[in-house]
Amino acid sequence: MQDVPLLISRILTHGSRIHGSSQVITWTGNGGPQRRSYAEIGARSAQLAHALGEDLGVGTGGRVGTLMWNNSEHVEAYFAIPSMGAVLHTLNLRLPAEQLVFIVNHAADRVIIVNGSLLPLLAPLLPDLPTVEHVVVSGPGDRSVLSGASARVHEYEELIEGRPTAYDWPELDERAAAAMCYTSGTTGDPKGVVYSHRSIYLHSMQACMAESMGITDQDTSLVVVPQFHVNAWGLPHATFMTGVNMLMPDRFLQPGPLAEMIESERPTHAAAVPTIWQGLLAELRAHPRDVGSLAQVTIGGSACPPSLMEAFDSLGMRVCHAWGMTETSPLGTVARPPAHAVGTDEEFAYRLTQGRFPAGVEARLTGPGGERLPWDGESAGELEVRGPWIAGAYYGGPDAGAVRPADKFSEDGWLKTGDVGTISPDGFLTLTDRAKDVIKSGGEWISSVDLENALMSHPDVAEAAVVAVPDDKWGERPLATVVLKEGATADFTTLRAFLADEGSIAKWQLPERWTIVPAVPKTSVGKFDKKVLRRQYAEGELDVTRL
Ligand code: ADP
Repeated sequence: MQDVPLLISRILTHGSRIHGSSQVITWTGNGGPQRRSYAEIGARSAQLAHALGEDLGVGTGGRVGTLMWNNSEHVEAYFAIPSMGAVLHTLNLRLPAEQLVFIVNHAADRVIIVNGSLLPLLAPLLPDLPTVEHVVVSGPGDRSVLSGASARVHEYEELIEGRPTAYDWPELDERAAAAMCYTSGTTGDPKGVVYSHRSIYLHSMQACMAESMGITDQDTSLVVVPQFHVNAWGLPHATFMTGVNMLMPDRFLQPGPLAEMIESERPTHAAAVPTIWQGLLAELRAHPRDVGSLAQVTIGGSACPPSLMEAFDSLGMRVCHAWGMTETSPLGTVARPPAHAVGTDEEFAYRLTQGRFPAGVEARLTGPGGERLPWDGESAGELEVRGPWIAGAYYGGPDAGAVRPADKFSEDGWLKTGDVGTISPDGFLTLTDRAKDVIKSGGEWISSVDLENALMSHPDVAEAAVVAVPDDKWGERPLATVVLKEGATADFTTLRAFLADEGSIAKWQLPERWTIVPAVPKTSVGKFDKKVLRRQYAEGELDVTRL
């Protein structure tokens, strides 16, 4: 067989030629959305690559950061930068300033492409970013905050204007770096993961498969998951493979505008973390809209509460639960029920699992003593995975090369996910917790996720997060932090009884410490930030009731 390297440029060339009329639709918030065809994106990507290489001196392996919302210019950067042989580094715009500075310096980005609306975030950091020589600004926003910046400032549109709309993309090594993304640091410092052309290509093919997202050129995908969060779960690459239209929300991520864009652009697919969907659900309850086009909603990033899945089902939107990590590109499992369960009582239970492993992901469970655990649906251990789109190391910086911390990689090279769960004999993963979030009470483990899911199924509860807190007698015990719906009156005794009765939580697992919070603190990618809750508890900032 021919040995043709699996390159991002091939995905771009395919999408812009074979699916040239498919569109990237970017919400602008005023008037009509911006529509750009895949053919135009192909031409503009070539122009951007010419500009970056010829004017800004970006060469093979050079890092170009993007501090951008989901929009068509960000898609152009997604394709232009890796296709020319450079490395796309997506910057998480919700990271605390010191972590943003850390990752730009660690990756040694030379250029940053930034949306105008994010300049107030970038400008004050520039003095601390010595490697950044050029800032390229795209879209609306006050440029004056950049006056006095030592980096050269360019306008995106002026920079690409008049350049050739074709580019003779180089034949690269498919194992070369194409993109990098730092973990959001939910449980520690951000760690850099470098994706290769090959890993992205193979991951994109898997993402398109019917057993994954199964999206084709008949679909429009609402890509809510940010392009800085694990490559928007691979969607921009996967969509260019099969011609799926992309609906990009730009900075309009609030429930109201999301509901409006669903009603008017009628996407058939969408992807985001549970907190986004919780917000949308509340919005739809308050202001009903026609969202019936959304046949499939991919939810991942943290466990999908059963109550959320049920609520979406009742609105005619079918949730498909998936698990992944920055280190897994991210597609690790997808919960499509097996044929024998479809239409039976088992179907919902299968959909609630994290899902089944695709052919490209091998999995094993490891017990506390390093022993391999059986796939019996009961033995719980740490999940380890390997495969062609699973990280084999972290990026150590320009001089350090690859680093493989022993708590993250096994001696034989598998990724230790830090997630604890079981695998059924037919290969479905059920996660009970993150290893760092499990509540270790008197030698037994309590799943914080089980308690949260049970609490969030109470009609008065908007959100609930459960964390381990120190306990003299048991070592650790659960602290339940609850956000009540507006006007709701449920008290802790009622909620505790509900957990025991409706939630089937064993008596010894029921929390005795309870607190009401206005909102659960969230990480930069919208997950419950349990580090913050544990600190608030330790510092006495929470008003805790003991039952
Ligand atoms: P960070 O580790 O900084 O939060 P990631 O987005 O890489 O950033 O997070 C990956 C982690 O998110 C997984 O290890 C797992 O703990 C959690 N996760 C992702 N998807 C799910 C899911 N469907 N159910 C439960 N947990 C999930």
